Amino acid sequence: MDRTHDPELRSWVESANEPRCDFPIQNLPFGVFRRKGSKEPPRGGVAIGDQILDLAAFGVKTGPNLDSLAAAGRAVWRALRARISAALSDPRQAKRLSRHLVPMNKAELFLPVSVGDYSDFYTGIHHATAVGKILRPENPLLPNYRWVPIGYHGRASSVVVSGTPVVRPNGQTKAPDAPAPSFGPSKRLDFELELGIVIGPGNRLGRPVPIARALDRVFGLVLLNDWSARDIQAWEYQPLGPFLAKSFATTIAPWVVTLEALAPFRAPAFARSAGEPRPLAYLYDEADQREGGYDIALEVHLSSAKMRAEKRPPVRLALSNFRYSYWTIAQIVAHQTSNGCNLRPGDILGTGTISGPTPDSAGSLLELTQGGKTPVALPSGESRLFLDDGDEVTLLGRCEREGFAPIGFGSAAGRIRPAPQLRSS
Ligand code: CA
Repeated sequence: MDRTHDPELRSWVESANEPRCDFPIQNLPFGVFRRKGSKEPPRGGVAIGDQILDLAAFGVKTGPNLDSLAAAGRAVWRALRARISAALSDPRQAKRLSRHLVPMNKAELFLPVSVGDYSDFYTGIHHATAVGKILRPENPLLPNYRWVPIGYHGRASSVVVSGTPVVRPNGQTKAPDAPAPSFGPSKRLDFELELGIVIGPGNRLGRPVPIARALDRVFGLVLLNDWSARDIQAWEYQPLGPFLAKSFATTIAPWVVTLEALAPFRAPAFARSAGEPRPLAYLYDEADQREGGYDIALEVHLSSAKMRAEKRPPVRLALSNFRYSYWTIAQIVAHQTSNGCNLRPGDILGTGTISGPTPDSAGSLLELTQGGKTPVALPSGESRLFLDDGDEVTLLGRCEREGFAPIGFGSAAGRIRPAPQLRSS
């Protein structure tokens, strides 16, 4: 840690000094923006309070995404962070930099990176166990779970930035007692509370990333909602895993919170009990075990169309924490590349649904409703087993630790639109 983490540091951007602000001067996450309604080219910026500071103010030309900055590596990110921190805390620079500030509410935000590839892991052991119980009551957690970080290759083309509407998918489903499947709108649309690991410098094909160096490949983290159509998933997933049940949309937050900003919130890796296997050597690193976890509180909020019409605030459905991840970020990166697979700057690796051990910390409706059996009550008098059209789901993330300035992740929100009408040919 360095002076950019000093909790006493204040910015001349006054909104950054508010105690509940996600973007104090100790955070400085990167994103891509332009002025709302303008034809300006999208470009890189850093969030400070309720403002965005154009990276052009520091001579950094990003283009329409942050891939080149992600590829530049930790020494460059660190030096840039130090310069931005110094500039935003020095009132003498206010005049010069003010013309590079755009209020967030007057900005349009874009995907921060190109997302050339997207895979999704399954590192939430409480989620894996709860979902396993619904699918296989006698055998919830499969024997490979504690050995291998389970994942699947997702679809990069449908990764969208927060605020993009999510169209309910049509798909093939089959009720257990139905003689044949049918095609139509998903009736069991769900969210998944996750983080996305944004890859910085890539690795060459055939050259695995060793676990001790894996975090050097990580630019930062974003909130990620892996929208899931449970009824489509249940019918299609055997034997190759999720396909169309997940590839219709994945929402990420616009702000990449760097590992530099997250340094004060490191924590030990998931504590394995005596009966659990030690990770294989390529997934085991002393430093990673000691401090490869991150203490990040994660929340899901929901608002229905009725709630918004009644001017009710969104209701919190769950509060979890990234500390419930069974595998660390370094283990995820080391495992994904262990076969020689190459990662490229701007790729995203989802963590998987991060549920906690209690009913109010479950990161999906599938868990919150015990497999679509017990409805969740909303303040408007409505209830939900799965998402209705018009529902808006918002993920939030926040880090707090005694002696440090709290930082936040912004939000990843999406509102459900009705499925496209089916046409008969
Ligand atoms: Ca997922």
